[in-house]
Amino acid sequence: MAKKTRSFARWQLPVALLALLLVRPIVGFLFTGTDAEYSYSEFKTLVQNSAVQEVVIMTDRIEGTLHEGGSFYTVRVNDPGLLPILEEYNVNVRGRNPNPLFAWLFPLAVMIGFSFWMMRRIRGTDGGMGAGLFSFSKSKARMSEGEHSGVTFEDIGGAREAITDLQEITDFLKDPEHFQRLGGKMPKGVLLVGPPGTGKTLLAKATAGEAKVPFFSLSGAEFVEMFVGVGASRVRDLFGQAKKKVPAIIFIDEIDAIGGKRGSVAGLPTNDEREQTLNQLLAEMDGFQPTTGLILIAATNRPEVLDTALLRPGRFDRQVVVGLPDLTGRHEIYKIHTENITLAPDVDLENLSRITPGFSGADVANVINEAALLASREGKDAVSAADFDSAIERVVAGSERRTRAMNEREKKVVAAHESGHALTAALLPNVDPVHKVSIIPRGNALGYTWQRPVEDRYLMGQGELEERLIVLLGGRAAEKIVFSEVSTGAADDLARATELARRMISEYGMSEKLGPVRLAADTRTQYLGVSGHLDSSISTTTAALVEGETSRLVSDALKKAMELLNSHISSLETLMQRLCEEETVSGERIKAILENEKAPNKESSSLKVVSFTTGVE
Ligand code: ATP
Repeated sequence: MAKKTRSFARWQLPVALLALLLVRPIVGFLFTGTDAEYSYSEFKTLVQNSAVQEVVIMTDRIEGTLHEGGSFYTVRVNDPGLLPILEEYNVNVRGRNPNPLFAWLFPLAVMIGFSFWMMRRIRGTDGGMGAGLFSFSKSKARMSEGEHSGVTFEDIGGAREAITDLQEITDFLKDPEHFQRLGGKMPKGVLLVGPPGTGKTLLAKATAGEAKVPFFSLSGAEFVEMFVGVGASRVRDLFGQAKKKVPAIIFIDEIDAIGGKRGSVAGLPTNDEREQTLNQLLAEMDGFQPTTGLILIAATNRPEVLDTALLRPGRFDRQVVVGLPDLTGRHEIYKIHTENITLAPDVDLENLSRITPGFSGADVANVINEAALLASREGKDAVSAADFDSAIERVVAGSERRTRAMNEREKKVVAAHESGHALTAALLPNVDPVHKVSIIPRGNALGYTWQRPVEDRYLMGQGELEERLIVLLGGRAAEKIVFSEVSTGAADDLARATELARRMISEYGMSEKLGPVRLAADTRTQYLGVSGHLDSSISTTTAALVEGETSRLVSDALKKAMELLNSHISSLETLMQRLCEEETVSGERIKAILENEKAPNKESSSLKVVSFTTGVE
């Protein structure tokens, strides 16, 4: 629906501008009623030929009618001899001052009307709740009656602890008196914190659905508009609307968009509009009693940036963590989202849950949708395990891009690179096993090695992280061995390896030289995982040491990857060949290649054993 409005506006704008440009001439034409344009000399000739019946002389033009019918106009020039000629040829002469109403007021009115119309379109207040010419200060809250939203806690997989916390709110909204009989007070606000796509919005909706109360929802970003003061008035309006419908729930998604720390940017001016909006929100929260039956639920995945004033008692004093679902949670989400999908008998939802650790509820929903689309595209009657496999691959690595043509040399380089990743992953005991390796471009990558985890992991040892580094450097190591030179293809691997190595040193205290200290700045957000830089308070000597240790870890990993691949050089060659011929090789076949490997002997392989010579490139 929104899409339709957008495409409508896209063609409307140029058309409307064009219309505006035409308004003046069109209006001029309508109100003057002329149709033929003559030069001044032509006009005079016509008069002298007794063809002109009447003229109207205006400030800058002369309009007239002809004896034989039809009208004309010409430009008025300063010609004192005109009047005597007109009198001589019996032309009826009239004079007229331009009518200000038609000449200017009308186009002006059209322009003003058009500007307001544009403003309404741009601000999207055309239609919907409280729409009107001046309604952009009104909140655009979407209201849905709890009874009809249809969402309940049954629709949520996992998130048991969060549901228990929110259950209390629904109990209160259903029967406030019972809840307060011992003098307890309900919280005014509940803050749902957790990574994106974990179902925070769904939980808030389900809370309203369970309590059968109206649900007003607005995203933090929707408060802040280009005009100062609009955000604050939207907050006022939102609370005003909700108070009329108590008991009710107000849900503010992405509250960090307005609730960030005030005046926190050292020495720099802060965003006044955002601050005003936040102040208004705080004032509104203080202005009602929980007994009124209005509960505010907000969601964020950046709790660390929120202003402390929002979190103090009497405001969002209850925080509910909505984490990524565990194995059981994912299994429940798979079950909920496949309820209306025809599954083939080979689909094992528990196995699917096992191979997708780290997936959020939204990722799982996306996988199921992709699988169903794939199956229907192929005209199947049911969604099979193979469709799920392709869908997971698509969600993890992006869509295949078979149209991206690679020349033979590039194909070989990619095959060597991916074989390096795949073989190191298959040879090392503590990394996720290889599911498949492919040189079909996907997303932005020219090829990819898909390692599939077997279980959820919450803790990793130093040895495991070092093995991860070796796999990341496996691609570059293989390129060095096969071609004796390196390509640009490892840029992303190097970035990820460097980040991991730096975190091992600055966050996990895994360097003997630097000891068990934290050296990273606190810029990493808890749920979005943006990697941190070094703390600005550490000395340049320590920073140099961190860089030195990072580079040592990455170089060591490259060295180990090269040693590992050199000792399995015939498998490297076989896997490369297979990839060049077949484009995709499964994890089982990689295992078989390694099991049938010929003894490392120089004759059996055309590849030379290349030893590690330089540091990190
Ligand atoms: P964001 O932080 O990005 O706003 P969110 O945490 O609010 O995300 P939702 O918008 O609630 O996440 O989830 C997106 C979709 O993912 C939901 O509509 C639902 O289909 C699915 N989903 C997410 N979590 C769950 C869950 N626990 N159970 C069932 N479905 C879920």
